[in-house]
Amino acid sequence: MGTPERKLPALTPETTAFWTGGKDGQLLIQQCGTCGRYQHPPQPLCPSCRTETMAPTPVSGRGKVKTFTVNHQQWLPSQAPTFVFAAIELPEQDELYVFSNVLAPPEAVHSGLPVTVCFEQQEDVWVPLFKPETGNA
Ligand SMILES: [Zn+2]
Repeated sequence: MGTPERKLPALTPETTAFWTGGKDGQLLIQQCGTCGRYQHPPQPLCPSCRTETMAPTPVSGRGKVKTFTVNHQQWLPSQAPTFVFAAIELPEQDELYVFSNVLAPPEAVHSGLPVTVCFEQQEDVWVPLFKPETGNA
């Protein structure tokens, strides 16, 4: 799949906002302009009302770890060899998940852990990553 040189996600008309919103410090999730439903990963059609009014919308950037696995394969050159890959449930909608890395040691991550987004720029992509909320935010 894809080119071996590029480890970064491919940008499509639907996904560009998600992968570049970090340029402005924003986590952009598709939201239906008709019924208000959020959707991720991005799709051209709203799953609820079937209209094509999906548009990237800034969300809070906060979430909670739902499930996670510990990976031993590097995605980004700057990553630690062992990292946590998690389903982050966003508070904007039930069962709205972003799949990404949590920047914390595996032993510090658990289901329900509050996290907040941060971004790591790689070429033309701002990869949304998550780190544990510090509590003094
Ligand atoms: Zn809709």
